Amino acid sequence: MKTKFGIYYISGLSPAASVIAHHIMANFPLLEAHLAGPLEVPLTAWDSYRGQYDIHFLLENLVIPDDYDFIIWLINGDIGDSWHPYLFGAAGYKKAVVSNARLGTIEELAKEACHEIGHLVGLKHCCRHDCLMHTSWTEKEVRNKLFGLCEKCRQSMIKEHDALKNVL
Ligand SMILES: [Zn+2]
Ligand SMILES: [Zn+2]
Repeated sequence: MKTKFGIYYISGLSPAASVIAHHIMANFPLLEAHLAGPLEVPLTAWDSYRGQYDIHFLLENLVIPDDYDFIIWLINGDIGDSWHPYLFGAAGYKKAVVSNARLGTIEELAKEACHEIGHLVGLKHCCRHDCLMHTSWTEKEVRNKLFGLCEKCRQSMIKEHDALKNVL
């Protein structure tokens, strides 16, 4: 059985959400990605001191809808936390958030979405600059990544997915 993956998106990113669903399934063929519907970011998530959304607040308050195993939320405001002046995305507790605030194209947002999904299915960072699981701190680094996992990460993804089936 495939693992069911939901995509929430702020309404402005609805065209991006379908493209991203396609990229998720191309890179993680064991996931079944569905659009879970539009979801706006609450005003209370805005940290006016830092001038950005607090990533932990967003992740903690994101509710996984019934019959989904994982959820990702596509937003457009800047995100960060006390340790990171900014982030393209973050993942934890079966949930992930990615933002296009510092990314210019849907493809770049899709690459970072796939990166966070990689973490959700148990993948660690990869040292290969062209692999989706490489950590990116600049838009250029995101652009330089290929739209795929290296062979080593792909093998771990298959192994992790088998382990995942037993816990979900
Ligand atoms: Zn990462
Ligand atoms: Zn890799």
